[in-house]
Amino acid sequence: MTTVSPVEHLYLHFPYCTGRCGYCAFHSGPPPRDWAAALAALQQEAETRGVPLAPLQTLYCGGGTPGLIGAAGFRALAERLHLPLTATTEWTVELHPATVTDDLMTTLAACGVNRISIGVQSLFDPVLERCNRRHTAQEALDAIACARQCIPDTGIDLIAGLPGVSADGWRDTLKRILDLDLPHLSVYALSIDEGSAWARAGMAPPDGDALCDAIAEAASLLTAAGYERYETSNYAKPGFRCRHNLNTWHGGDYLGLGTGAASRLGRLRREGDGHEMLVSELDDALERCLTRLRLSEGLDLTAIAQHYPLLRPYLTAWKNILHLFQQQGLLTANAAPTMRGYEVLDALERTLIEATL
Ligand code: SF4
Repeated sequence: MTTVSPVEHLYLHFPYCTGRCGYCAFHSGPPPRDWAAALAALQQEAETRGVPLAPLQTLYCGGGTPGLIGAAGFRALAERLHLPLTATTEWTVELHPATVTDDLMTTLAACGVNRISIGVQSLFDPVLERCNRRHTAQEALDAIACARQCIPDTGIDLIAGLPGVSADGWRDTLKRILDLDLPHLSVYALSIDEGSAWARAGMAPPDGDALCDAIAEAASLLTAAGYERYETSNYAKPGFRCRHNLNTWHGGDYLGLGTGAASRLGRLRREGDGHEMLVSELDDALERCLTRLRLSEGLDLTAIAQHYPLLRPYLTAWKNILHLFQQQGLLTANAAPTMRGYEVLDALERTLIEATL
């Protein structure tokens, strides 16, 4: 067992949903009848696992649908869990549009939540209905307006490649979202989870070329409007990157509490299904470095050599591989993905792993 240092990044998972989106097979169930018991279970888990918490740099409440515990649930969370929040803790809560109310938002702001991420996904009602999203486009827009009145750092998620959205419709959605001038946007490529309703119905995944075009269209419109594409699927106005997720992509440790939450604590990994394993030092170093490939900062081999001495014997090979990808126009001079490079990140990652093992 490795010694675990106090953790500065905490994820709380709320595995509740009022229904099941067509593409999703995420672990979630109906909302708790007794949110106090659900919070007590989180507290019990924190005590049982005994991972020390440092003053938190970030706290992320994700799901599922965290908003289903309501204003009273968040008040209790803030009062009972005694989390070591500071004046600079980034505290994000993911919200489904149907859970956003004035009462909830006022409470979240009073508790110290300072960042909101709303799952909008589409602005077409027939598409939302087909996805079984359980909200309309107008309800999503109302939720954004309501949330940002209390917490200005409110961003949204969109999904590219949803069936029924034409190229023109997608462009129109992006333009309408740009008009809102939000600080943070996530644009994910549709992925149909194994075991989801759509997978069981045999729905084909989106056409690869059309999906790449939709992602490229988003990247082009959003960056032209002043957003930084700082990660494959994430765009932020300057100063509004998600610090919680950046820690993960920078290879940092984090503790996840709640059914379905993953953790990375030293060499200890805990998967969302609760499975724990101790990875080798080499696998640990590789994992922590390769997530940086997703970032616009690029892969800094000098910094890697400094922080991960175990990888030094492989860095000449890595340098040659990066050079090859640069020559092919897939990486920039500082080894960050180009527009085309984002499409082949998996291949680049595989090539670097093969050069290491
Ligand atoms: S996509 Fe989100 S809201 Fe929809 S079922 Fe999955 S976890 Fe629940």
